[in-house]
Amino acid sequence: TKHFPVRRGLRSLFTRERKAVHAVDDLRLTLRRGRVTALVGESGSGKSTVARLLAQLYPRTSGDIRLHGETITVHGGRKFRAYCRQVQMIFQDPFASLNPVHTVRYHLTRALKIHGRDGKTSAELEDNLRQLLLRVQLTPPERYLDKFPHELSGGQRQRVSIARALGADPEVLLADEPVSMLDVSIRLGVLNLLRDLKERLNLAILYITHDIASARYFADETMVMYAGRLVEGGDSETVTQQPAHPYTRLLIESAPDPDRLDRVGDPKDAPEDEAGGEPPSLIAPPTGCRFHPRCIHAMPKCSTELPPRFELPVISGEGEHWAACWLYEEGAAK
Ligand code: SF4
Ligand code: MG
Repeated sequence: TKHFPVRRGLRSLFTRERKAVHAVDDLRLTLRRGRVTALVGESGSGKSTVARLLAQLYPRTSGDIRLHGETITVHGGRKFRAYCRQVQMIFQDPFASLNPVHTVRYHLTRALKIHGRDGKTSAELEDNLRQLLLRVQLTPPERYLDKFPHELSGGQRQRVSIARALGADPEVLLADEPVSMLDVSIRLGVLNLLRDLKERLNLAILYITHDIASARYFADETMVMYAGRLVEGGDSETVTQQPAHPYTRLLIESAPDPDRLDRVGDPKDAPEDEAGGEPPSLIAPPTGCRFHPRCIHAMPKCSTELPPRFELPVISGEGEHWAACWLYEEGAAK
């Protein structure tokens, strides 16, 4: 894992109806090749904003994004262009992300051309197109190349979107709820494909989801986001088996049964309506710990002082575990 992008202290503050929206605050996140990092949170927590920030689709107001230790600053510069090739995004809705008037061949050829990977001859191009479809297990490739999006199932379309992202030969995939709009019966297949690609292509994957059960199944590392801030992180097994932050516990209690893997990422099971209370407005987030209005453990200092990350003992191997919660301050009663 010599090469990895590092992002720290990112902040996004954009205006909506002339009010500042503190969508993401103090994001510190490192993605590593060969690993899936899950970013879990309710809708409105800012997790899609994280993907758009990292994809350079939104401007950031402070902080930096690094790739291989190098800060990416100038828009349009050489490093920026390299970053935009190396960091590819997969969107939630495979229906909206493919142009209905174009074939699979068109979408994939375009991706290869943009990144100068279309080959010198038409035979080379044809071979590269076939390889992309084989990578996403659409076989035989000839059956899919000249199809239009409407001739494919949702799962096949998402596979084409993944193939298109792979056309750039990326190091990082940003996958924003990649299976939540798919039929429950095919979600596992797409997650398993992504996991297989992670291993074979040594990709770093950011898996954005509202479903902590699928994070446990699919991700090596899990980060939990609440109201624009990361509140807990660590290896997925530890975070899901021994959640420390009261918000993570709430998410797990209201999550579907983790053994029901046929239901991973089911939006009907989203905890947002069941978790007791609403996520706060990002226009005027609560002071101190942003979770304090909903927290059953809240102490006086919780509403005034922002809790830093407290390191927690790790049970399994080399992983890490931390929670931004005053309960874990030295000497605090658990
Ligand atoms: Fe609850 Fe306080 Fe911990 Fe926030 S810092 S989660 S309010 S105990
Ligand atoms: Mg979203």
